[in-house]
Amino acid sequence: MASSGHVIETTSLTKHYGGIVAVDGLSMSVPRGHVFGLLGPNGSGKTTTMSMLLGLVRPTAGSFSLFDSSDGLEAALHRVGAIIESPSFYPYLTGRQNLLYFQGISGRGSSDEIDALLERVGLEGRGDHKFRTYSLGMKQRLGLAYALLGDPELLFLDEPTNGMDPAGMAEVRDLIRSLGTGGRTVLLSSHLLHEVEQVCDSVAILSKGKLIAQGNVADLLRSQDQITLKTTDNDKAVEVLSALDWVDDIKIEDGEVVVAAPSDRASDLSTTLGRSEVFVTNISTGQKSLESYFLEVTGDDGE
Ligand code: ATP
Repeated sequence: MASSGHVIETTSLTKHYGGIVAVDGLSMSVPRGHVFGLLGPNGSGKTTTMSMLLGLVRPTAGSFSLFDSSDGLEAALHRVGAIIESPSFYPYLTGRQNLLYFQGISGRGSSDEIDALLERVGLEGRGDHKFRTYSLGMKQRLGLAYALLGDPELLFLDEPTNGMDPAGMAEVRDLIRSLGTGGRTVLLSSHLLHEVEQVCDSVAILSKGKLIAQGNVADLLRSQDQITLKTTDNDKAVEVLSALDWVDDIKIEDGEVVVAAPSDRASDLSTTLGRSEVFVTNISTGQKSLESYFLEVTGDDGE
């Protein structure tokens, strides 16, 4: 059962399609009020995960809960909006007519909300234009307006900026950020790292259906601290540093020793080396980008 701090919890959630393992033992927790990124290359299982959580695909094994799901999935889904299963809008109806139509048949929200929703997603002034005249960005916005009917507490957005130009992407990203305020939780899937880095509070990284890492974006990046050292004897430095349990991933690159270690311990490194008569002539700290981290863990930059 999802605890009050987590809106979604999955336990060993698994989906096989014949011989294909689309999602493989996924255990993740989505904190309430976060914009949470489900990040992974194409085919890593993001859509399948969302589809299981929305009751559209039956898990092969494992379990999940939405909110406190003692009321059952169907009741929980009344509190969820999604653009994974958004309707195919009618090209010859206007944006407003489409929303009215689908609001009516889905019973979600009320027709009185539609003007406010069009404004919320930046379609004010375009609501009375036919859907077929909309740009891709506007179509995505209309999908978001549909997902927001009834003011859901949890939103599922599957690749919401897919196929959009950079300006449209930036606008939709700002919109998503604004949707993740006031306690609403947004689960966003994306294969675009910079999108997730810019929009999400926390993230789960998937590769071939498996969870590779999850956590707060800032914490994940902090765990990627790097220290680069120029020393009087790199080989000996590597030997000395290998004995430290708080230093990992030691390598020599371009004549410098590069290690994964907390950046606030740079002077400890220098002192330790000095004791072994290896002297540090230059030291610098930095962070791997989420991009290089992602590349490393999935072998895919997602672009
Ligand atoms: P993308 O970014 O390309 O949408 P994704 O991360 O959302 O990818 P999924 O669409 O969940 O990944 O697919 C995960 C794996 O499951 C892929 O190998 C895909 O081919 C397979 N798959 C997904 N749906 C089905 C299905 N209905 N039948 C058979 N295989 C499927």
